Amino acid sequence: MSDCLFCKILAQEIPANIIYEDDKIIAFDDIQPQAPHHKLIIPRKHIATLNELTPEDIYLTGHLLYVAQQLAKKLGTADTGYRVVMNCNQDAGQAVYHIHLHLLGGRKLSWPPG
Ligand code: AMP
Ligand code: ZN
Repeated sequence: MSDCLFCKILAQEIPANIIYEDDKIIAFDDIQPQAPHHKLIIPRKHIATLNELTPEDIYLTGHLLYVAQQLAKKLGTADTGYRVVMNCNQDAGQAVYHIHLHLLGGRKLSWPPG
């Protein structure tokens, strides 16, 4: 998708601090971190929102979660706690329409979210 910010990061047209990559997924630092650790984990495949997910993407979304777990362990926040979030559409505050898992950790996170 030529007008998608995260596709541009995937194409290396926009810089990002990439902390993990494999053939299906990349992860990078959020540009406006909301916690000491705030990473974004995205599929290479352009999927606009969770609503566009198809059965063929089921393994991919599990892969996103597994990478989140691996990164949380690497960042040292797995035992203390962390949160993964995927916003879907306007009411959830989705700003970039290429699905991404937020990984937040390194501080106490309040609940319920705002
Ligand atoms: P969401 O509101 O769930 O769509 O989250 C989009 C996230 O992308 C926000 O947390 C932004 O701070 C982050 N973001 C926007 N532009 C960039 C960028 N160029 N590099 C890294 N993160 C970004
Ligand atoms: Zn995209």
